[in-house]
Amino acid sequence: MKLLARRNWPSLLGAGVLAAGCSIITSIPDHTGESADQTGVGGTTAESTNVGGTTADDTNAGGTTSASTGTDPADTPVGKHGQLSVQGTLIMDEHGNPVQLKGPSSMWLNWESAPYAENKEGLQWMRDNWNAKVIRAAMGITPAGAYLQNPTKAKNQVKTIVQNAIDLGMYVIIDWHDGTADQHQADAVAFFTEMAQTYGSYPNVIYEPFNEPVKQDWSTVLKPYHEAVIAGIRSADPDNIIVLGTGNYSQFVDLAATDPILLPNIMYTLHFYSCTHGASLRDRGDYALDRGLAIFVTEWGATDANGGTGSSATLCLDEAQRWHDWMNQKGISWAAWKFDKCTDLTCYFKSGAAVTGGWTDDQLNGHGPFVRDRMLEQTERAADAY
Ligand code: MG
Repeated sequence: MKLLARRNWPSLLGAGVLAAGCSIITSIPDHTGESADQTGVGGTTAESTNVGGTTADDTNAGGTTSASTGTDPADTPVGKHGQLSVQGTLIMDEHGNPVQLKGPSSMWLNWESAPYAENKEGLQWMRDNWNAKVIRAAMGITPAGAYLQNPTKAKNQVKTIVQNAIDLGMYVIIDWHDGTADQHQADAVAFFTEMAQTYGSYPNVIYEPFNEPVKQDWSTVLKPYHEAVIAGIRSADPDNIIVLGTGNYSQFVDLAATDPILLPNIMYTLHFYSCTHGASLRDRGDYALDRGLAIFVTEWGATDANGGTGSSATLCLDEAQRWHDWMNQKGISWAAWKFDKCTDLTCYFKSGAAVTGGWTDDQLNGHGPFVRDRMLEQTERAADAY
């Protein structure tokens, strides 16, 4: 999720807006008509005080299921599919079969209302009961308390999620959740080089070096940034997939397609929020796919681009279904915003949902039931079916 209100951020923080539990929504001028991206999505509420994972809110009476008793590693997603690679527009597993990964994206890790993404038992429950194969760790960079200000805390959150995913045989996306990563290139190169040195030998890990570029130009700004981060990663990890952020909040995959990075195991991000984005953005995706780019939807919501905040927020499930029909037809993998509890319609859970799993229908919030149902769908098929 984006942070378009950056220029207003210090004053908003100073005004205690986040502390008051309000989301920040700031419209920006939009000349394209399809990127009415807004943001804030702090998603923080009064529940934010519950971060220790030890309060009553996090101990679900619904409890865990037999899923917690462990699984044969061979039956896990990574056990079945192993090392991934990009072949044409598809992710292929080590047996030469296409793989469509589906799973949750964390909240900005610096703004989680409770440590859902870091909870191994809850992630296992989602793997076993919702069919999650991948989790995205969205490491915030610029906000107060995020990576630039507290790198040890942020990195440890990511390492917890990655290690849990390795233990559970799931894929994991390490996301540099930043709209101005080109201004933090040295930090990003150092971070991803370290991640590649630490985890590059595991087939689980996927790198995402730039969540949502804002208005930066692809060829002169984004491409050189990506090339620098790729060089760092490839110095330690020759093969794991790297998913590149594209212009205008990871929408302009068509512009990347006019000047792609011609290296192995590279994909490009496309993000959609179905109340804001429809057929014209899918057309950009088709343009890129037709030119051989592989797309990974590392973030989506069945809401407005602001993440479904505010009292007038609504779901757009019909358009979201059209997106899923398109992704399933093309074999496109995805992660859904966001694995947290709050009143934003992109939060999967209501207050009271445990971090440890066992989620009942009445604990689901907003697009949560739709996310679960789409995650449960198996769409594996042969390469020649695409
Ligand atoms: Mg590797």
